[in-house]
Amino acid sequence: MLRISLAAVREGPVAIADQVAPDDPLVAATALTLTVPLAVAGRLSAAGEGKYYWQATLRTVVRAECRRCLAPVDVPIAESLGLVFVEEEEAEGDEDCYLVPRRASFLDLSEAVREELLLAAPQFVECREDCRGLCRRCGADLNAGPCGCAPEVDPRWEALTKSHREE
Ligand SMILES: [Zn+2]
Ligand SMILES: [Zn+2]
Repeated sequence: MLRISLAAVREGPVAIADQVAPDDPLVAATALTLTVPLAVAGRLSAAGEGKYYWQATLRTVVRAECRRCLAPVDVPIAESLGLVFVEEEEAEGDEDCYLVPRRASFLDLSEAVREELLLAAPQFVECREDCRGLCRRCGADLNAGPCGCAPEVDPRWEALTKSHREE
């Protein structure tokens, strides 16, 4: 359950443990592909007037694409987070926190989970450190060996040799 009773939290920390399926609308909204459910866990506690603190962990595996050869790459995610939720009128300026409607009786964690999952997702994925990528001319996967295209000439050199020929 990602919808937590705040009355319960005010009485003592509430343990959170939930699994979000890869086809859940929450995950779909991130446009990420998960190969296993998203495991959401942690403890939500009261942290003063209109303030709540969620010591959270997000665990899953994101199916990404190598930015060089486009091969699928599974990237495990294990994020430990400390998230602050503050009732609107208690928020102070640019504090890095999630807002809670005034006098809310429930706290819905799904929006925070969606945002934090996006932040935790890998930006630049490579299938391996020395991935050779795809040939820019024929599109062949160069990890499988040379493709037979002539070696690429730096266009700056090409321009130089051309101007020499024209002289
Ligand atoms: Zn690759
Ligand atoms: Zn080629």
